[in-house]
Amino acid sequence: MNIVPRSCAAASDGIFIDNAWRPSASGATLAVADPATGEVFTRIAAGNAADIDAAVTAARRAFEGSWGSLTATERGRVLTRAAALVLESFDELALLEARDTGKPIGQARADITATARYLEFYGGAADKVHGDTIPFLPGHFVTTEHVPHGVTGHIIPWNYPAQMFGRTIAAALAMGNACVLKPAEDACLTPLRLTEILRDAGLPPGALNCVPGRGEEAGAALAAHPGIDFISFTGSPEVGTAVQTAAARHHIGCTLELGGKSPQIVFADADLDRAMPVILKAITQNAGQTCSAGARLLVEDGIAQNVIERLRAGFPALTAGLQQADRDLGPLISPGQLARVRRFCDQADADGIPLIAEGGVDPDAPQSGNFIAPRAYGPVPRDHPLARQEVFGPILSLLTFRDEADAVALANDTDYGLVAGVWSRDAGRAIRVARRIMVGQVFVNAYGAGGGIELPFGGMKKSGHGREKGFDALYEFAATRTMVIRHD
Ligand code: NAD
Repeated sequence: MNIVPRSCAAASDGIFIDNAWRPSASGATLAVADPATGEVFTRIAAGNAADIDAAVTAARRAFEGSWGSLTATERGRVLTRAAALVLESFDELALLEARDTGKPIGQARADITATARYLEFYGGAADKVHGDTIPFLPGHFVTTEHVPHGVTGHIIPWNYPAQMFGRTIAAALAMGNACVLKPAEDACLTPLRLTEILRDAGLPPGALNCVPGRGEEAGAALAAHPGIDFISFTGSPEVGTAVQTAAARHHIGCTLELGGKSPQIVFADADLDRAMPVILKAITQNAGQTCSAGARLLVEDGIAQNVIERLRAGFPALTAGLQQADRDLGPLISPGQLARVRRFCDQADADGIPLIAEGGVDPDAPQSGNFIAPRAYGPVPRDHPLARQEVFGPILSLLTFRDEADAVALANDTDYGLVAGVWSRDAGRAIRVARRIMVGQVFVNAYGAGGGIELPFGGMKKSGHGREKGFDALYEFAATRTMVIRHD
């Protein structure tokens, strides 16, 4: 795989504003490294506050002009065309995503399929968001409409850059907002290429601008810019706090999609043949660098030994490898992320937490890559960091519970509230438990990292607020305007 972004390969040429590439105002660049080898294979412009300011100005012009004057149907057509163009560039985008993030090529292909699906879904939905008429006083007619915020800021992480682009940008554009996107410094190639594809699909200048750069420079400048009307942030709780604080200073709304420590609750009557492969996948997909990773395996006492045996049987076959090898997982995104995950393992080892099982790393995976074998630990004490903190790596923590009440208490004994899974053949109990878990998305006898594009997704507690995906996202990217007409 030897692919660099087509239009933005030159270091000086990586900021996309008003439908054209330009250098960053400062001339600074970011190195782009392959996580599987450590090789720096290109550089990309690093934007700062001046670039963000130019992008916000361009977006405002588009919102008040060419983009803002389109009908919802016309906006939808642009997105639908973009979905088709993504599929036309499918192999190029999948390779780019795999190279930039390290993920196995099969996962990258699935991510590009999902990205096209986001554009298709929101293209179709753009003209299907309708207001209400509300009975009111005699002689009055009341109607509501959902109007775009104006200029929306979008800050996304590195774990699913293409999907995150589809998820947040397609919904915001569908509602008629003009967007400024700040992708993550560790993975900005597919967001840049997708921005260009939106232009090719007919998006007018300024409707979508993409400014890669460091979080503390470009990201902070975007969150604090007085010219944005709403901000959508996906990333860590710490940065989410900073973004929401900046938004509050100029009284704009924001959605925060933050981390997770999602529980998979396995009752003694669960169908383990069905559950175990899903449980293994939910912690190894994207090398565990998934906000909705099923990181806490909560098992009823009576079957703990059985589950441990099955983990011992399943984990050794889980292997990390090069992107093109398409193994169960790829490398972690960066040396920093690798060091972070290793710290959790070292602490677990030092504290005597039993290592249940370990997977492997392909022998031909370069030593210079950020590879780590997946691991399962347990039983993990309830107050141990492995039971409470987000590792963001392929490390599974097994904890045990006594009964239904204890299962609910343990599942909710976390700062986070993103996703949960409940496994039981007793449908009544599964539904009862599912409805008591404080999360934004809960699966029964299934677990699908984030679910489908159609399904509202988002957090409670430290996992954030607001919903993306489905129609809910469209309402996040709009304000309700109520019109009262007196006609007597
Ligand atoms: P991060 O918070 O470090 O970075 C996310 C984005 O914020 C990046 O674009 C970064 O450049 C930017 N940023 C950094 N500092 C900033 C600042 N001071 N002001 C404004 N922007 C700034 O997170 P990460 O390490 O890239 O991603 C991992 C985290 O994201 C995990 O906690 C994970 O659970 C979470 N995540 C959540 C979801 C979800 O949907 N809930 C999805 C993916 C990732």
